[in-house]
Amino acid sequence: MAFMRSKQQVEEVEKTDVGIWNCDNIGCNGWMREDFSFSQNPTCPLCNSSMSQEMRLLPVLSHTINH
Ligand SMILES: [Zn+2]
Repeated sequence: MAFMRSKQQVEEVEKTDVGIWNCDNIGCNGWMREDFSFSQNPTCPLCNSSMSQEMRLLPVLSHTINH
């Protein structure tokens, strides 16, 4: 038996500044990617508060992952 199955997931995650909507409600963690919201003025899905635009460093969404 060989236990050589390496489960090293050393994936270098590329990150980029992404526009997001952040919940205005202090104490609420609600936020969403701008790309995923179709509204000009979205409300928080968690608490229904208004949201403000921010930039956040997030992993690049990629559909082509080559290993
Ligand atoms: Zn919220």
